[in-house]
Amino acid sequence: MKNVASTVKLNNGVDMPQFGLGVWRVKEGSQVVDSVKAAIASGYRSIDTAAAYGNEEGVGQAIRESGVPREELFITTKVWNSEQGYESTLAAFEDSRRKLGLDYLDLYLIHWPVKGKYKDTWRALEKLYADGKVRAIGVSNFHPHHLDDLLADAKVVPAVDQVELHPLLNQAELRRYCEGKGIRVEAWSPLMQGNLDHPVLTELSVKYGKSPAQVILRWHLQHGIIVIPKSVTESRIQENARLFDFELSETDMARIDGINENRRFGSDPDNFNF
Ligand code: NDP
Repeated sequence: MKNVASTVKLNNGVDMPQFGLGVWRVKEGSQVVDSVKAAIASGYRSIDTAAAYGNEEGVGQAIRESGVPREELFITTKVWNSEQGYESTLAAFEDSRRKLGLDYLDLYLIHWPVKGKYKDTWRALEKLYADGKVRAIGVSNFHPHHLDDLLADAKVVPAVDQVELHPLLNQAELRRYCEGKGIRVEAWSPLMQGNLDHPVLTELSVKYGKSPAQVILRWHLQHGIIVIPKSVTESRIQENARLFDFELSETDMARIDGINENRRFGSDPDNFNF
């Protein structure tokens, strides 16, 4: 974990940058093109999008215009709920690949555990992986009970579970579960969707001379969690990547661990309706 492009090893040997840019709610067109290009220019090498975000074409354009070779970048997208099932997932993958303008994806995720569908969806991801169209496959928003159910029939163990994870929802149990199964945990909404006001974070921000966002993201990195903060603001895109010139002490890591409230800013995977 030495710089913005440093990687962690997934369970199939693929190296994935531990840090990247998320682009949910980033508008298709110049907003997403400019954000992704600013991120890549600041050293980011991983971009997290999804079919549902409606901005895969702009992400693809930014990649092509970035001047960085494709193989140095790590691109994730996700199959949306309405496309789940075996054949429909294969078709959704081709649609995403065409929009992104890429020959292969680095990581393809099941966006949410749609009941009665996610096992067929997983078989499609296994096929895409076996065919070499994607370098790693994983899931998102899976609780341990969803993973137990999936693993009962899976040929391939998911490389990643991307879940809501930040100091107010630190997912300690899921992290322990995933560690035991060799599944990497990736944090969505790591910055609590911009709700950064908390006395402990403010205090540590002063102590380390870093912003609350930087303190939080450093906490994720020191826990070995993959993290993908979103911003459309160039100065914040740069700020969020300046995480490699300080280290939180063990005591301060424990203090941040202690502010957990199991509080979600997004939906609970056991109770979503979309
Ligand atoms: P984040 O927790 O990353 O927060 C983004 C918000 O924080 C924006 O309002 C942004 O503002 C603001 N912000 C960013 N940097 C700073 C900073 N340094 N100081 C102050 N404010 C800051 O939210 P997301 O929900 O976007 O999560 C990140 C990514 O995770 C998504 O973009 C997406 O890729 C993924 N995700 C996946 C989900 C899933 O179901 N798999 C669900 C939700 C997210 P501004 O942009 O105006 O600068």
